[in-house]
Amino acid sequence: MTNCSEGYHNGPIDYQFDSEHIWHPYSSMLHSQAVTGVVAAQGCELILDDGRRLVDGTSSWWACVHGYNHPVIIEAMQTQLHNLSHVMFGGITHPPAVALCKRLVAMSSDSLTKVFLADSGSIAVEVALKMALQYWQGQNQPQKQRILTVKNGYHGDTFAAMSVCDPEGGMHTMFGNAVTPQLFAPAPQSKFDGDFDTSDLEPIAQLLSQQGNEIAAVIIEPILQGAGGMRFYHPEYLRGLRKLCDRHNVLLILDEIATGFGRTGKLFAYQHADIEADILCLGKALTGGYISLAATLCSDKVAQGVSESPSGVFMHGPTFMGNPLACAAACASLDLLAQNQWPQQVSNIETQLKQQLATAIDYAAVTDVRVLGAIGVIEMQHTVDTAALQSRFADLGVWIRPFGKLIYIMPPYSISPSQLSQLTDAMKQVAKHISDTDIDKHHQHQAEVKFVSHG
Ligand code: PMP
Repeated sequence: MTNCSEGYHNGPIDYQFDSEHIWHPYSSMLHSQAVTGVVAAQGCELILDDGRRLVDGTSSWWACVHGYNHPVIIEAMQTQLHNLSHVMFGGITHPPAVALCKRLVAMSSDSLTKVFLADSGSIAVEVALKMALQYWQGQNQPQKQRILTVKNGYHGDTFAAMSVCDPEGGMHTMFGNAVTPQLFAPAPQSKFDGDFDTSDLEPIAQLLSQQGNEIAAVIIEPILQGAGGMRFYHPEYLRGLRKLCDRHNVLLILDEIATGFGRTGKLFAYQHADIEADILCLGKALTGGYISLAATLCSDKVAQGVSESPSGVFMHGPTFMGNPLACAAACASLDLLAQNQWPQQVSNIETQLKQQLATAIDYAAVTDVRVLGAIGVIEMQHTVDTAALQSRFADLGVWIRPFGKLIYIMPPYSISPSQLSQLTDAMKQVAKHISDTDIDKHHQHQAEVKFVSHG
């Protein structure tokens, strides 16, 4: 019998139990990979069980924008915890949900007026897709059931979300016919800060004109394709896509789960293109990364269509919908953003990343270096060994978890210039090391995985 009465606040960590019994993201229970024990975090540092402090380059998968242990968010959550940690949302409402939804409606584009609170990004995407399908039922066009998207996308790990992830490197092949077949256009090719090539939109325009009658919605990550390759594409693509959706009577779902709340230099990435979504998915940084919460916003038009569908109601209602503790954390996080320090912080990070990462392009195994807002990417020639690099980075005093061919960071906005330098130094050191030593070994590399999820 395992002793279950041990303390759990700060260890010691039973690593053997962890490796034998606990699944980590995208992991095997048979060949478990080493995990790093974290017992606390402060500001932009993770504190390990052996006392080491690592500068965090990931914001805990792009969510923790204000840093850890922020007194304002902690206070909001503590106060809420003593009032009401959770209550069902069916037939009940509460102050933090109302306060949060008021903020979300006010800060997003004018046409987005209705909010559905869900528990994770993937569920926010499921909700968005269901809204689109029910909308067309309400419009007496129930044949509009297909979803159109672009390659290299990532929208989550649940089944409908998987169906719109990149069809080649994603999980389609793994789950075969269990995943709904959707329509895919090539990924946008024109780079964010390059010239726009109008032919970029041609394939998606063609799909919309040929099959618009059966397409309910287009879903896309605006400006940044995240887990599908950290690709920054041209705002003109989004502007053109918005027009095409209008022309062919198709809803536009923007998945801002990774980009929302300032990450790309605008509060929402769609603002780079000055367009509005019919349905908008938010998550990750919504609570400042303190607790899971996501939101799907839609326009009056979509909400009305849903209500005119045969069921008359929107068919979704998770147990922890609108969790008050999460809503309180989100309100506090949005209040911090409203102090408006983030535009300068993100702009400073962008400038520093551009200055400090640029020389990495000279290393033999580096194929591209790119920066947008508080996102810095070094793309390598070959898929990297995530576990090995993770521990090499830890030895250099930083927490960076590469995936696929990408060594990237998305630090908290509150990171100091010297902490950021620590991250960029480590990235360059590792990229150089791979270039100097590993380049000849790559022919032994495991079958190259084009898309490896953000794990
Ligand atoms: N959409 C995008 C754009 C994402 O980046 C992610 C997560 N990386 C998701 C959806 C899924 O969110 P979650 O992991 O919270 O389910």
